[in-house]
Amino acid sequence: MQPVSETVLDFTSFRVGYCSGPLAMTQRGAPWRIARFPAGIAVLRHPERGTILFDTGYGALFAQATKPFPERIYRWLTPVTFQPADTLPDQLAKRGFGAPDLVFLSHLHADHVAGLFDLATIPPVITSRAAIEKLDTGRIASLQAGCPAMIRDKLQSLDLQTVETLPRISLAPYGLSAFGDGYDLLGDQSALVVALPGHGFGQTGLFLPATTQGAIFLVADAIWSLEALKANRLPPDMTLRRLGDRDAFIDTFARLRAFHLSYPQVRIMASHCTEAYPMNDGEV
Ligand SMILES: [Zn+2]
Repeated sequence: MQPVSETVLDFTSFRVGYCSGPLAMTQRGAPWRIARFPAGIAVLRHPERGTILFDTGYGALFAQATKPFPERIYRWLTPVTFQPADTLPDQLAKRGFGAPDLVFLSHLHADHVAGLFDLATIPPVITSRAAIEKLDTGRIASLQAGCPAMIRDKLQSLDLQTVETLPRISLAPYGLSAFGDGYDLLGDQSALVVALPGHGFGQTGLFLPATTQGAIFLVADAIWSLEALKANRLPPDMTLRRLGDRDAFIDTFARLRAFHLSYPQVRIMASHCTEAYPMNDGEV
């Protein structure tokens, strides 16, 4: 696999809060012990396009949006740990990043979106058309779709751009033809949008052929951990049905596994994977 683009993206990744839940809900045959699931994001630096975020993690809006009932159920199911020092702007500033120039959202679950609203100024935001269309729904349906009404309303107030308006490109040169065509996020094939259906609505990932940390595939929630992909252990059906389209998830998982077996040198980073986003000892 030879990158077509000559651009090498500067790559950084970190957690913006985390939640806790039973491990068995994410992996068949896993114990029922409570595990921690980081809300991982990535920051890409492009020589001309500036600072681009892949997802935004948790934010102050999550606590607000899940205060009323029935939205409160969301935090009962997945209790969130989010310290003041975890906020997206603070973590960006700490690492020397200025205000982001573009935000790419893999899908519109609250744990990928809430941090956006902690930014002092919201830059252009891009996500899939299917994800945007699904926002147009009632309070309960929106909650069931992982996006509490308050967050849905804030998203709808933005002028969201759709990935489908980007130039369409073949993913075949990257060994990703099984995923169909992709979209060129930055115009030089340095970041390719890849459809990853099955989790949530209209989920997409980003394939980065060349970064300062090698080739990286940001797969959001298409898998919960690299370990589970390697072991070919899917989440239980109950989880797949609750969070999206079971059959599509299984199909996407199989394609990712085949890709990983063919290209083990590509780092696959899932948003809630502790291998991609290590938890510090002592955090509970
Ligand atoms: Zn999700």
